[in-house]
Amino acid sequence: MANLEKIYKKFGAYLQGHFLLSSGKHSKFYLQSAKILENPYLAGKLCERLFKIIAKNKIKFDSICSPALGGILAGYELARVSSKRFIFTERVDGVMTLRRGFSVKENEKFIICEDIITTGGSALESTKIIENLGGKVVAFAALANRGFCAVSNLKTQRKKEAKLPSNIPLFTLGNFDFEIYEASDCPLCKEGTKAIKPGSRGN
Ligand code: ZN
Repeated sequence: MANLEKIYKKFGAYLQGHFLLSSGKHSKFYLQSAKILENPYLAGKLCERLFKIIAKNKIKFDSICSPALGGILAGYELARVSSKRFIFTERVDGVMTLRRGFSVKENEKFIICEDIITTGGSALESTKIIENLGGKVVAFAALANRGFCAVSNLKTQRKKEAKLPSNIPLFTLGNFDFEIYEASDCPLCKEGTKAIKPGSRGN
């Protein structure tokens, strides 16, 4: 299978333009994983590859949990290919919660799965929920890392923005380390274009 960057480009998931990120910073690139995950066959194949990396690293786990919304499709496919249970956390009035009758058993081992790990904030919030209910998070997984967190299998370095605990491994299929700019010091703004929020206006 081609490398992840090629796949993201081929499926229109690697966007180029002038983007306003949820952090408030600006970027020339944006990863729209929905364009990958709208293809269930491809999503399944990518998660098979991710599961192989996890298995090769001898991670034993019982279940997968993803933060809604972005992580759900990737987490569900990873659970399907590994024949594990899948649950998700979701925000209610901004607070991450576990609802819908989902439960966690004492010492149940979890992988927290996202589509893309940026700073890992949502994955960390899901981790706290699992651990407060007696479960244990043994690894993080994602299709791709956005350059901030340390990826165990790719040996990337942790940056100061990273929020994931460094004692739990993160496994991904790729690492995209795009340059990001402060809104006040963005070369794209200086060229006179306006940053758009990804997901709006058809992207
Ligand atoms: Zn800008």
